Amino acid sequence: MTRIAIVGVAGRMGRTLVNAVQQDSEATLAGGIVKRGSSLAGVDIGELAGLGKLGVVAVDSLSAIVDDFDVLIDFTTPQVTLANLAFCAEHGKRIVIGTTGLADAELAALEGYGDRVPMVFAPNMSVGVNLTLKLLETAARSLGNEGYDIEVVEAHHRYKVDSPSGTALKMGEVVAESLGRTLKEHGVFERVGQCGPRTDKEIGFATVRAGDIVGEHTVMFATEGERIEITHKASSRMTFAKGAVRAARWVAGQQEGCHDMQDVLGL
Ligand code: NAD
Repeated sequence: MTRIAIVGVAGRMGRTLVNAVQQDSEATLAGGIVKRGSSLAGVDIGELAGLGKLGVVAVDSLSAIVDDFDVLIDFTTPQVTLANLAFCAEHGKRIVIGTTGLADAELAALEGYGDRVPMVFAPNMSVGVNLTLKLLETAARSLGNEGYDIEVVEAHHRYKVDSPSGTALKMGEVVAESLGRTLKEHGVFERVGQCGPRTDKEIGFATVRAGDIVGEHTVMFATEGERIEITHKASSRMTFAKGAVRAARWVAGQQEGCHDMQDVLGL
């Protein structure tokens, strides 16, 4: 049985994760962490998730539950995630990280923990998205250097704070890598005013923020006469939460390394 604690347990993903852990027969809820000083400290995390009392109350510091859990699941912000990695390194814990929007320096800092903290880090934990990444690799290899323009379009709910989404960037990276390109050189994130026609090798990104959209991603391969679109649509956060719990069970058996969902799923 993997003992899981959830950081940001009162958040959108946090509450969904409580449900997902409850539904998993090989995982158990060992704790939930809210922001320091939050009025939700002391509240039963089952009640936060709409499940009724589960007998585990939210705490506002990891130290309070350090002996209770094996794996931390963290869907919060880059700064909080890095602080939690330091805690895991100090206390011999494992971690699953779903947080997106990390800057390059934060990403480097995260990867630096790979030799001390067994972790799974993925901008999208859904099985479907990770299969989609494989399909994109194949499509890019067949089409990308044959005159097909590549564009990534994503849509999310109005509260999302980072853009483009971590998943859109990951899809772009997979396509770029398959073609020997980089997003630094070929990614185009803004087209405003007289920006001229697109170049052959650019990979364009477009973002929609509206209402309650859980997460939609399309990668388009377009040329004269045809267009291929590979699309993934998430209709519930449960798909990410179930993937994260699966990753937590998997990482419980790892001794080191910074892994992604492809490793977890054996893709
Ligand atoms: P949210 O704002 O609803 O939840 C974040 C929670 O973290 C909030 O409740 C906040 O109070 C809490 N928090 C902040 N600082 C904290 C601290 N120091 N200690 C404990 N809790 C703290 O956001 P969300 O929609 O749940 O998304 C969270 C992150 O997960 C975002 O980066 C989002 O892009 C990412 N995300 C990833 C996936 C994936 O599959 N990898 C899926 C969905 C969302």
